[in-house]
Amino acid sequence: MIERSVVVRVHEGLHARPATQFVKLAKSFTCEVEIRCNGRGASAKSAVKLMLLGVKENDEAVLRAEGEDAAEAVSALATFLQTPGAGDVELAAPPAASATSAAGDVAASASLAPLPVPAPGPSRGVAASEGTAIGPAFAFFPAALRIPADRVEPGDAEAEVARYRAALAATTESFRKAKARPGLKRDDAAIIDALVDVAEDAEFIAGVERSIREGSNAPAAVTRTGAEIAGSFEAMSDPYLRARAEDIRSVTRSIALALLGERDASLADMPPGSVIVADEIAALDLAKATLKDIAGIVCRKGAATSHVAIMARAHGIPAVLGAPFAQEALKAARVVGLDGASGEVLVDPMAADEARLREAIARERTERESLIAYRTVEPRTRDGRRIEIAANLGSLAEIDGALEAGAMGVGLFRTEFLFMERRALPGEDEQAETYRRLAEAFAPHPVVIRTLDIGGDKPVAGIDFEHEDNPFLGWRGVRMCLERPDVFKPQLRALLRATPAGNVKILLPMIADVGEVDAVRALLDECRAELDAEGLAHGAFELGVMIETPAAVFLAGAIAREVDFFSVGTNDLTQYVMAADRLNPRVAKLNRTEHPAVLEAIRMAARAAREAGIWIGVCGEAAARPDLIPFFVENGVTELSMSPASIGRAKKCVTEI
Ligand code: PEP
Ligand code: MG
Repeated sequence: MIERSVVVRVHEGLHARPATQFVKLAKSFTCEVEIRCNGRGASAKSAVKLMLLGVKENDEAVLRAEGEDAAEAVSALATFLQTPGAGDVELAAPPAASATSAAGDVAASASLAPLPVPAPGPSRGVAASEGTAIGPAFAFFPAALRIPADRVEPGDAEAEVARYRAALAATTESFRKAKARPGLKRDDAAIIDALVDVAEDAEFIAGVERSIREGSNAPAAVTRTGAEIAGSFEAMSDPYLRARAEDIRSVTRSIALALLGERDASLADMPPGSVIVADEIAALDLAKATLKDIAGIVCRKGAATSHVAIMARAHGIPAVLGAPFAQEALKAARVVGLDGASGEVLVDPMAADEARLREAIARERTERESLIAYRTVEPRTRDGRRIEIAANLGSLAEIDGALEAGAMGVGLFRTEFLFMERRALPGEDEQAETYRRLAEAFAPHPVVIRTLDIGGDKPVAGIDFEHEDNPFLGWRGVRMCLERPDVFKPQLRALLRATPAGNVKILLPMIADVGEVDAVRALLDECRAELDAEGLAHGAFELGVMIETPAAVFLAGAIAREVDFFSVGTNDLTQYVMAADRLNPRVAKLNRTEHPAVLEAIRMAARAAREAGIWIGVCGEAAARPDLIPFFVENGVTELSMSPASIGRAKKCVTEI
């Protein structure tokens, strides 16, 4: 027996992908290997058991191996555990059910998306992707499993085990086929890999076969074993290991369906022009649909940051999520209409409402067609001032849509999306690659990348947020980042590594004090020195701040002397100036950017920018409003950044000033 003790250096410990990679490595040896940590042990060849061990970075672990190649196995596995970047590949986003948040998360999730606050009303959900739609409803509700109660006689057990193995093989085969679909995104492929890993897990298989041999029929054995393992994951304290329970449920369901000879509804069967109605839609399911055939999407769960919302915006599909309807009402719907800008949903609308929606669709089409001409226009006011109309993006998947819409660069890249909906923090290399690809896609136009703006209303793997009564007034954005250099420095280093592209600008969120800017500059200097010492290239860049707290407005003159640009975040500035929560429909009438108090704050910031000779842009939702664009431009704003769908209209608006 070979035994070795190591301190685990794998970044964030043995969660999801590192665990499966560790298991793959262990399986390449013939010997038995056990890993012990925190007084418990597990086979190194079962990802499920390994993840349940909850091995964290800096934990001490003991590897024990017995067999012919034990020494090589222990040496290779110890090296893996001591390598911080081990398993640091693209991590799987939560699959199926976990790709979207529960309905209860809707309000919280919407905090990162500058969408209009919907007026109160029973038929409004979260406005997730602009545009009007109406069409026959395509109900996408995977049915409840009907598990037979029959017992398996001892003499039939082996035949039942064989039936289970065949269903397992068919399921993993169908996962692999789904992965081979052309055009599948990297994240979606990683989701499928994670599902295959779970399905083929030795502990899971052994548990099912044991249960069959004890008399359960195969679908019952799969369901029970899956539920037990999922339950163990749900009891874990790490939210991202908890989310792993969804993988197990998803796999369990697929194998049980194969055993029952049933098949889930598939979006591949959707007739063109339909409005999909669902509880939630996983990225994997949406990838099966022909996106251009989808008229609209209405989901009972999910929020503006859900995967489905991002995909809908990227493909210009109107969508409302978190729609307050009973499942039965949506299932029974024949025709569904929606307005993705207000969040309104109409089930089997009256003739007058249907006519109103159809008129809006026709108007939007005419407007879209008339705006095509503006795609290549670099708009100037009649007196010759050039205004940059840029895009607000949250992922690389949205680049093509933004370029097609005529974006003159990116005015706000919300890096939160790289950190959310995943099981571990993205590594520095992965971030550097993302920022570099973004910069290159829009060069020579500028790309403004905002550092992490996340708070206690949104869990992120690897950052412990304590409960806060007022998360909007709490430990978020630059406040959190400055206290977590282990999170912030890799992002700053990654941003610096993207600067050789020449068009990267770094934007700091939630600035309320000049000292915060100084502290970030000091960290940037530290990062630059490190990169120099490591021989990693970096170049020049501009540093700017969001103007979104009243403090930043009052201190705009002092802050302007420290930075290269301002970007007004009207979503937060409005809520903080008006003391009116941007997510609370009860105070929506106070939460208005056009309120004189908010306009005065913007005027003050613009004046300070002008006096200091720096440029000022607007990247909150109000940047796209035709009624406010003249006000911004008159006050010296030279850049407006918005969702790609609004770019053509904003360009036209500028040319009319
Ligand atoms: C804003 O506050 O206006 C803004 C653009 O940032 P976010 O909506 O991401 O808070
Ligand atoms: Mg903000």
